[in-house]
Amino acid sequence: MGENRFVYMDHAATTFTKPEVAEAMLPFVKEHFGNPSSLYSIGRENKEAVETAREQLARALGADPKEIYFTSGGTESDNWAVKGTAFARRKKGKHIITTSIEHHAVLYPCEYLETQGFEVTYLPVDRHGLIEPAELETAIRKDTILISVMYANNEIGTIEPIQKMGEIAKEHEIPFHTDAVQVIGTIPLNMKHMHRNIDMLSLSSHKFYGPKGIGALYIKEGTEIDSCMHGGGQERRKRAGTENITGIVGMGKAIEIATKNIESHNEKIIKMRDRLLGEVLQIPHCELNGHPEKRLAGNLNFSFEYIEGESLLLMLDQMGICSSTGSACSSGSLEPSHVLKAIGVPPEIAQGSLRLTLGDANSEEDIDYVLEVLPGIVEKLRAMSPFYKPAKECEK
Ligand code: PLP
Repeated sequence: MGENRFVYMDHAATTFTKPEVAEAMLPFVKEHFGNPSSLYSIGRENKEAVETAREQLARALGADPKEIYFTSGGTESDNWAVKGTAFARRKKGKHIITTSIEHHAVLYPCEYLETQGFEVTYLPVDRHGLIEPAELETAIRKDTILISVMYANNEIGTIEPIQKMGEIAKEHEIPFHTDAVQVIGTIPLNMKHMHRNIDMLSLSSHKFYGPKGIGALYIKEGTEIDSCMHGGGQERRKRAGTENITGIVGMGKAIEIATKNIESHNEKIIKMRDRLLGEVLQIPHCELNGHPEKRLAGNLNFSFEYIEGESLLLMLDQMGICSSTGSACSSGSLEPSHVLKAIGVPPEIAQGSLRLTLGDANSEEDIDYVLEVLPGIVEKLRAMSPFYKPAKECEK
Protein backbone atom coordinates (compact mmCIF):
# COMPACT_ATOMS: atom_id res chain seq x y z
CA MET A 1 0.00 0.00 0.00
CA GLY A 2 1.41 3.40 -0.93
CA GLU A 3 1.63 6.64 1.05
CA ASN A 4 -1.64 7.87 2.49
CA ARG A 5 -3.37 10.24 0.13
CA PHE A 6 -6.07 12.64 1.20
CA VAL A 7 -9.21 11.70 -0.70
CA TYR A 8 -12.38 13.68 -0.16
CA MET A 9 -15.41 11.63 -1.20
CA ASP A 10 -18.17 13.30 0.78
CA HIS A 11 -19.35 16.01 -1.63
CA ALA A 12 -23.00 15.39 -0.68
CA ALA A 13 -22.17 16.49 2.88
CA THR A 14 -20.35 19.59 1.78
CA THR A 15 -17.87 20.84 -0.82
CA PHE A 16 -14.69 22.90 -0.66
CA THR A 17 -15.00 26.60 -1.44
CA LYS A 18 -13.61 27.33 -4.91
CA PRO A 19 -10.72 29.84 -4.97
CA GLU A 20 -12.63 32.18 -7.34
CA VAL A 21 -15.52 32.15 -4.85
CA ALA A 22 -13.27 32.94 -1.87
CA GLU A 23 -11.64 35.73 -3.89
CA ALA A 24 -15.00 37.30 -4.69
CA MET A 25 -15.92 37.20 -0.99
CA LEU A 26 -12.69 38.59 0.40
CA PRO A 27 -13.32 42.32 -0.20
CA PHE A 28 -16.59 41.96 1.72
CA VAL A 29 -14.77 40.41 4.68
CA LYS A 30 -11.95 42.92 4.72
CA GLU A 31 -13.30 46.23 3.41
CA HIS A 32 -16.90 46.56 2.35
CA PHE A 33 -18.63 46.50 5.70
CA GLY A 34 -21.54 48.82 4.94
CA ASN A 35 -25.09 47.78 5.80
CA PRO A 36 -26.95 47.18 2.51
CA SER A 37 -29.95 49.01 3.96
CA SER A 38 -27.97 52.22 4.63
CA LEU A 39 -28.44 55.07 2.20
CA TYR A 40 -24.83 56.31 2.06
CA SER A 41 -22.51 55.02 -0.64
CA ILE A 42 -20.81 52.10 1.18
CA GLY A 43 -24.27 50.78 2.04
CA ARG A 44 -25.62 51.29 -1.48
CA GLU A 45 -22.62 49.51 -2.98
CA ASN A 46 -23.27 46.49 -0.81
CA LYS A 47 -26.93 46.55 -1.75
CA GLU A 48 -25.79 46.42 -5.37
CA ALA A 49 -23.59 43.41 -4.59
CA VAL A 50 -26.61 41.63 -3.06
CA GLU A 51 -28.71 42.39 -6.13
CA THR A 52 -25.94 41.21 -8.47
CA ALA A 53 -25.86 37.87 -6.62
CA ARG A 54 -29.65 37.67 -6.84
CA GLU A 55 -29.37 38.10 -10.60
CA GLN A 56 -26.67 35.41 -10.76
CA LEU A 57 -28.98 32.98 -8.96
CA ALA A 58 -31.96 33.94 -11.09
CA ARG A 59 -29.95 33.41 -14.28
CA ALA A 60 -28.76 29.99 -13.10
CA LEU A 61 -32.34 28.92 -12.31
CA GLY A 62 -34.04 30.58 -15.28
CA ALA A 63 -36.06 32.63 -12.79
CA ASP A 64 -36.81 36.28 -12.11
CA PRO A 65 -34.51 38.00 -9.57
CA LYS A 66 -37.59 39.00 -7.56
CA GLU A 67 -38.36 35.30 -7.07
CA ILE A 68 -35.07 34.65 -5.22
CA TYR A 69 -34.97 35.02 -1.42
CA PHE A 70 -31.74 34.60 0.51
CA THR A 71 -31.77 32.35 3.58
CA SER A 72 -29.19 30.79 5.89
CA GLY A 73 -29.12 27.52 3.92
CA GLY A 74 -31.07 24.45 2.88
CA THR A 75 -32.53 23.81 6.33
CA GLU A 76 -34.04 27.28 6.58
CA SER A 77 -35.33 27.21 3.00
CA ASP A 78 -37.07 23.86 3.59
CA ASN A 79 -38.51 24.98 6.93
CA TRP A 80 -39.77 28.19 5.40
CA ALA A 81 -41.36 26.50 2.38
CA VAL A 82 -43.16 23.89 4.48
CA LYS A 83 -44.25 25.92 7.52
CA GLY A 84 -44.65 29.22 5.65
CA THR A 85 -47.03 27.65 3.13
CA ALA A 86 -48.89 25.58 5.72
CA PHE A 87 -49.62 28.61 7.91
CA ALA A 88 -50.46 30.90 4.99
CA ARG A 89 -52.99 28.38 3.58
CA ARG A 90 -54.35 26.81 6.76
CA LYS A 91 -57.82 28.23 6.22
CA LYS A 92 -58.02 26.28 2.93
CA GLY A 93 -57.06 22.95 4.48
CA LYS A 94 -54.62 21.18 6.73
CA HIS A 95 -53.33 18.30 4.65
CA ILE A 96 -49.74 18.09 3.38
CA ILE A 97 -48.11 15.48 1.17
CA THR A 98 -44.42 14.68 1.35
CA THR A 99 -42.31 11.53 1.13
CA SER A 100 -40.70 9.10 3.53
CA ILE A 101 -37.20 9.82 2.21
CA GLU A 102 -37.04 13.61 2.58
CA HIS A 103 -34.18 15.28 4.42
CA HIS A 104 -34.97 15.96 8.08
CA ALA A 105 -35.17 19.66 7.17
CA VAL A 106 -38.53 18.76 5.55
CA LEU A 107 -39.55 15.78 7.68
CA TYR A 108 -39.18 17.48 11.06
CA PRO A 109 -41.14 20.64 10.10
CA CYS A 110 -43.88 18.25 8.88
CA GLU A 111 -43.80 16.41 12.20
CA TYR A 112 -44.00 19.76 13.98
CA LEU A 113 -47.01 20.72 11.87
CA GLU A 114 -48.70 17.46 12.90
CA THR A 115 -48.52 18.70 16.50
CA GLN A 116 -50.30 21.86 15.32
CA GLY A 117 -53.30 20.07 13.87
CA PHE A 118 -52.04 19.45 10.32
CA GLU A 119 -52.18 16.00 8.73
CA VAL A 120 -49.26 14.70 6.70
CA THR A 121 -49.16 11.86 4.17
CA TYR A 122 -45.67 10.39 3.71
CA LEU A 123 -45.52 8.78 0.27
CA PRO A 124 -43.69 5.45 0.14
CA VAL A 125 -40.89 4.71 -2.33
CA ASP A 126 -39.93 1.58 -4.27
CA ARG A 127 -36.76 -0.39 -3.57
CA HIS A 128 -34.71 2.11 -5.60
CA GLY A 129 -36.11 5.10 -3.74
CA LEU A 130 -38.42 6.20 -6.56
CA ILE A 131 -41.80 7.76 -5.89
CA GLU A 132 -44.61 6.63 -8.15
CA PRO A 133 -46.49 9.72 -9.43
CA ALA A 134 -49.74 7.72 -9.38
CA GLU A 135 -49.33 7.42 -5.60
CA LEU A 136 -49.20 11.20 -5.38
CA GLU A 137 -52.38 11.49 -7.43
CA THR A 138 -54.13 9.04 -5.08
CA ALA A 139 -52.95 10.84 -1.93
CA ILE A 140 -54.34 14.24 -3.00
CA ARG A 141 -57.41 15.34 -1.05
CA LYS A 142 -59.73 18.34 -1.20
CA ASP A 143 -57.91 19.84 1.78
CA THR A 144 -54.35 19.28 0.50
CA ILE A 145 -52.53 22.60 0.72
CA LEU A 146 -48.91 21.65 -0.07
CA ILE A 147 -46.86 18.97 -1.80
CA SER A 148 -43.15 18.74 -1.00
CA VAL A 149 -41.00 16.18 -2.81
CA MET A 150 -37.22 16.29 -2.96
CA TYR A 151 -35.58 16.52 -6.39
CA ALA A 152 -32.85 14.01 -5.58
CA ASN A 153 -32.06 12.12 -2.43
CA ASN A 154 -28.94 13.09 -0.51
CA GLU A 155 -28.18 9.56 0.72
CA ILE A 156 -28.86 7.24 -2.20
CA GLY A 157 -28.81 9.78 -5.05
CA THR A 158 -32.11 8.72 -6.63
CA ILE A 159 -33.58 11.42 -8.88
CA GLU A 160 -37.37 11.74 -8.57
CA PRO A 161 -39.85 12.35 -11.43
CA ILE A 162 -40.24 15.95 -10.34
CA GLN A 163 -41.65 17.32 -13.58
CA LYS A 164 -44.45 14.74 -13.63
CA MET A 165 -45.28 15.40 -9.98
CA GLY A 166 -45.21 19.14 -10.62
CA GLU A 167 -47.78 18.65 -13.39
CA ILE A 168 -50.05 16.70 -11.05
CA ALA A 169 -49.76 19.40 -8.40
CA LYS A 170 -50.57 22.09 -10.98
CA GLU A 171 -53.64 20.20 -12.25
CA HIS A 172 -54.96 20.19 -8.68
CA GLU A 173 -53.85 23.78 -8.02
CA ILE A 174 -51.71 22.75 -5.05
CA PRO A 175 -48.39 24.57 -4.39
CA PHE A 176 -45.40 22.34 -5.12
CA HIS A 177 -42.10 22.60 -3.26
CA THR A 178 -38.92 20.70 -4.05
CA ASP A 179 -35.71 20.40 -2.05
CA ALA A 180 -33.10 20.77 -4.80
CA VAL A 181 -30.15 21.08 -2.42
CA GLN A 182 -28.30 18.15 -4.01
CA VAL A 183 -28.92 18.94 -7.66
CA ILE A 184 -27.41 22.37 -8.34
CA GLY A 185 -24.57 21.95 -10.81
CA THR A 186 -25.70 18.41 -11.70
CA ILE A 187 -29.18 18.90 -13.16
CA PRO A 188 -29.94 22.01 -15.27
CA LEU A 189 -32.94 23.93 -13.96
CA ASN A 190 -35.29 26.32 -15.68
CA MET A 191 -38.15 27.63 -13.64
CA LYS A 192 -39.88 29.20 -16.64
CA HIS A 193 -39.83 26.17 -18.92
CA MET A 194 -38.96 22.63 -17.83
CA HIS A 195 -39.62 23.37 -14.16
CA ARG A 196 -42.50 25.81 -14.52
CA ASN A 197 -44.75 23.72 -12.26
CA ILE A 198 -42.44 24.13 -9.29
CA ASP A 199 -43.60 26.92 -6.97
CA MET A 200 -40.78 26.76 -4.41
CA LEU A 201 -37.27 25.34 -4.64
CA SER A 202 -34.64 25.14 -1.88
CA LEU A 203 -30.92 25.41 -2.45
CA SER A 204 -27.79 25.57 -0.32
CA SER A 205 -24.50 27.18 -1.32
CA HIS A 206 -22.09 24.80 0.43
CA LYS A 207 -23.24 21.92 -1.77
CA PHE A 208 -21.99 23.65 -4.93
CA TYR A 209 -18.56 24.94 -3.88
CA GLY A 210 -19.83 28.07 -2.16
CA PRO A 211 -19.64 29.14 1.48
CA LYS A 212 -21.62 27.54 4.32
CA GLY A 213 -24.54 29.17 6.14
CA ILE A 214 -26.10 30.70 3.05
CA GLY A 215 -28.82 29.44 0.75
CA ALA A 216 -31.93 30.56 -1.04
CA LEU A 217 -35.57 29.77 -1.57
CA TYR A 218 -37.01 30.31 -5.03
CA ILE A 219 -40.62 31.42 -4.61
CA LYS A 220 -42.64 31.77 -7.79
CA GLU A 221 -44.41 35.09 -7.95
CA GLY A 222 -47.92 34.83 -6.54
CA THR A 223 -47.20 31.86 -4.23
CA GLU A 224 -48.99 32.17 -0.89
CA ILE A 225 -46.39 31.99 1.88
CA ASP A 226 -45.95 33.62 5.28
CA SER A 227 -42.82 35.62 6.05
CA CYS A 228 -39.92 33.58 7.35
CA MET A 229 -38.59 36.20 9.78
CA HIS A 230 -40.30 39.31 11.06
CA GLY A 231 -38.25 42.42 11.68
CA GLY A 232 -36.61 44.76 9.18
CA GLY A 233 -37.76 45.14 5.60
CA GLN A 234 -35.09 42.97 3.96
CA GLU A 235 -35.94 40.44 1.25
CA ARG A 236 -39.11 42.31 0.38
CA ARG A 237 -40.34 41.94 3.98
CA LYS A 238 -40.33 38.16 3.76
CA ARG A 239 -37.06 37.37 5.51
CA ALA A 240 -35.96 40.11 7.90
CA GLY A 241 -32.37 40.52 9.07
CA THR A 242 -29.23 42.24 7.81
CA GLU A 243 -28.03 40.31 4.80
CA ASN A 244 -25.11 37.86 5.00
CA ILE A 245 -23.42 39.83 2.27
CA THR A 246 -20.16 37.84 2.21
CA GLY A 247 -22.09 34.61 1.88
CA ILE A 248 -24.48 36.03 -0.68
CA VAL A 249 -21.64 37.29 -2.90
CA GLY A 250 -19.88 33.90 -2.59
CA MET A 251 -23.02 31.95 -3.43
CA GLY A 252 -23.66 34.15 -6.48
CA LYS A 253 -20.20 33.42 -7.84
CA ALA A 254 -20.45 29.72 -6.93
CA ILE A 255 -23.74 29.15 -8.75
CA GLU A 256 -22.44 30.92 -11.83
CA ILE A 257 -19.45 28.53 -11.97
CA ALA A 258 -21.45 25.42 -11.01
CA THR A 259 -24.07 25.86 -13.73
CA LYS A 260 -21.73 26.80 -16.56
CA ASN A 261 -20.63 23.40 -17.91
CA ILE A 262 -22.97 20.90 -16.30
CA GLU A 263 -22.77 18.35 -19.10
CA SER A 264 -18.97 18.05 -19.34
CA HIS A 265 -18.72 18.20 -15.55
CA ASN A 266 -21.15 15.28 -15.19
CA GLU A 267 -19.37 13.30 -17.88
CA LYS A 268 -16.09 13.49 -15.99
CA ILE A 269 -17.65 12.58 -12.64
CA ILE A 270 -19.77 9.73 -14.06
CA LYS A 271 -16.72 8.18 -15.70
CA MET A 272 -14.92 8.04 -12.35
CA ARG A 273 -18.06 6.94 -10.50
CA ASP A 274 -18.80 4.06 -12.85
CA ARG A 275 -15.27 2.70 -12.64
CA LEU A 276 -15.45 2.81 -8.85
CA LEU A 277 -18.91 1.22 -8.89
CA GLY A 278 -17.89 -1.66 -11.16
CA GLU A 279 -14.88 -2.53 -9.03
CA VAL A 280 -16.53 -2.15 -5.61
CA LEU A 281 -19.36 -4.47 -6.68
CA GLN A 282 -16.73 -7.18 -7.15
CA ILE A 283 -16.41 -7.28 -3.35
CA PRO A 284 -18.62 -10.17 -2.13
CA HIS A 285 -21.85 -9.39 -0.23
CA CYS A 286 -21.97 -5.83 -1.48
CA GLU A 287 -24.98 -4.08 -3.04
CA LEU A 288 -25.62 -0.69 -4.54
CA ASN A 289 -28.42 1.31 -2.91
CA GLY A 290 -30.54 3.71 -4.95
CA HIS A 291 -31.57 3.66 -8.58
CA PRO A 292 -29.02 2.10 -10.98
CA GLU A 293 -29.57 4.80 -13.64
CA LYS A 294 -31.74 7.60 -12.28
CA ARG A 295 -29.12 8.76 -9.81
CA LEU A 296 -26.98 11.83 -9.19
CA ALA A 297 -23.72 11.85 -11.13
CA GLY A 298 -21.49 11.77 -8.06
CA ASN A 299 -23.44 9.46 -5.76
CA LEU A 300 -22.59 5.91 -4.74
CA ASN A 301 -24.19 4.22 -1.76
CA PHE A 302 -23.27 0.65 -0.89
CA SER A 303 -24.34 -1.85 1.72
CA PHE A 304 -21.70 -4.28 2.91
CA GLU A 305 -23.06 -7.22 4.82
CA TYR A 306 -21.38 -8.26 8.10
CA ILE A 307 -19.85 -4.83 8.63
CA GLU A 308 -20.48 -1.81 10.84
CA GLY A 309 -20.57 1.32 8.69
CA GLU A 310 -19.06 3.39 11.51
CA SER A 311 -16.00 1.12 11.72
CA LEU A 312 -15.60 1.20 7.96
CA LEU A 313 -15.78 4.98 7.95
CA LEU A 314 -13.18 5.28 10.72
CA MET A 315 -10.77 2.90 9.03
CA LEU A 316 -11.14 4.73 5.73
CA ASP A 317 -10.47 7.96 7.60
CA GLN A 318 -7.24 6.48 8.99
CA MET A 319 -6.21 5.93 5.39
CA GLY A 320 -7.05 9.55 4.50
CA ILE A 321 -10.42 8.87 2.83
CA CYS A 322 -13.45 10.97 3.85
CA SER A 323 -16.75 9.16 3.35
CA SER A 324 -20.04 8.81 5.16
CA THR A 325 -22.46 6.24 6.40
CA GLY A 326 -26.10 7.28 6.18
CA SER A 327 -26.32 11.05 5.83
CA ALA A 328 -23.82 13.48 7.34
CA CYS A 329 -26.55 15.05 9.43
CA SER A 330 -27.46 11.78 11.11
CA SER A 331 -23.96 10.37 11.56
CA GLY A 332 -23.17 10.07 15.22
CA SER A 333 -26.40 8.16 15.77
CA LEU A 334 -26.46 4.41 15.31
CA GLU A 335 -30.08 4.37 14.14
CA PRO A 336 -30.22 2.93 10.63
CA SER A 337 -30.96 5.67 8.11
CA HIS A 338 -34.65 6.37 7.45
CA VAL A 339 -33.92 6.38 3.73
CA LEU A 340 -32.39 2.89 3.68
CA LYS A 341 -35.28 1.73 5.86
CA ALA A 342 -37.78 3.21 3.39
CA ILE A 343 -36.23 1.33 0.44
CA GLY A 344 -36.44 -1.90 2.40
CA VAL A 345 -32.80 -2.52 3.33
CA PRO A 346 -32.90 -4.75 6.45
CA PRO A 347 -31.55 -2.88 9.53
CA GLU A 348 -28.53 -5.14 10.00
CA ILE A 349 -27.45 -4.54 6.39
CA ALA A 350 -28.28 -0.82 6.51
CA GLN A 351 -25.78 -0.55 9.38
CA GLY A 352 -23.03 -1.49 6.93
CA SER A 353 -23.74 1.29 4.47
CA LEU A 354 -21.11 3.48 2.90
CA ARG A 355 -21.77 6.63 0.90
CA LEU A 356 -19.05 7.85 -1.43
CA THR A 357 -19.93 11.10 -3.20
CA LEU A 358 -17.63 12.34 -5.92
CA GLY A 359 -17.07 15.87 -7.09
CA ASP A 360 -14.50 18.43 -8.15
CA ALA A 361 -12.04 17.40 -5.45
CA ASN A 362 -11.57 14.01 -7.15
CA SER A 363 -9.32 12.57 -9.83
CA GLU A 364 -8.80 9.12 -11.36
CA GLU A 365 -5.89 8.67 -8.92
CA ASP A 366 -8.36 9.00 -6.04
CA ILE A 367 -10.40 6.16 -7.52
CA ASP A 368 -7.23 4.03 -7.79
CA TYR A 369 -6.43 4.75 -4.17
CA VAL A 370 -9.93 3.91 -2.85
CA LEU A 371 -9.87 0.67 -4.84
CA GLU A 372 -6.48 -0.16 -3.40
CA VAL A 373 -7.61 0.43 0.19
CA LEU A 374 -11.33 -0.43 0.48
CA PRO A 375 -11.39 -4.21 -0.27
CA GLY A 376 -8.68 -4.85 2.34
CA ILE A 377 -10.56 -2.89 5.01
CA VAL A 378 -13.80 -4.73 4.25
CA GLU A 379 -11.96 -8.05 4.51
CA LYS A 380 -10.33 -7.05 7.80
CA LEU A 381 -13.62 -5.95 9.38
CA ARG A 382 -15.37 -9.09 8.23
CA ALA A 383 -12.62 -11.22 9.72
CA MET A 384 -13.56 -9.64 13.08
CA SER A 385 -17.29 -10.21 12.62
CA PRO A 386 -18.81 -13.08 14.61
CA PHE A 387 -21.47 -13.46 11.88
CA TYR A 388 -19.25 -13.59 8.83
CA LYS A 389 -17.50 -16.94 9.33
CA PRO A 390 -20.67 -18.94 9.95
CA ALA A 391 -22.24 -17.30 6.90
CA LYS A 392 -19.26 -18.30 4.78
CA GLU A 393 -19.42 -21.85 6.14
CA CYS A 394 -23.11 -22.04 5.14
CA GLU A 395 -22.23 -21.03 1.59
CA LYS A 396 -19.97 -24.03 1.16
N1 PLP B 1 -31.72 19.14 2.07
C1 PLP B 1 -30.88 18.22 1.60
C2 PLP B 1 -31.33 17.27 0.54
C3 PLP B 1 -29.56 18.15 2.09
O1 PLP B 1 -28.71 17.25 1.59
C4 PLP B 1 -29.16 19.07 3.09
C5 PLP B 1 -27.82 19.00 3.68
O2 PLP B 1 -27.25 17.94 3.86
C6 PLP B 1 -30.09 20.02 3.54
C7 PLP B 1 -31.36 20.02 3.01
C8 PLP B 1 -29.71 21.04 4.57
O3 PLP B 1 -28.93 22.05 4.00
P1 PLP B 1 -28.01 23.01 4.92
O4 PLP B 1 -26.83 22.21 5.33
O5 PLP B 1 -27.63 24.14 4.01
O6 PLP B 1 -28.85 23.47 6.04
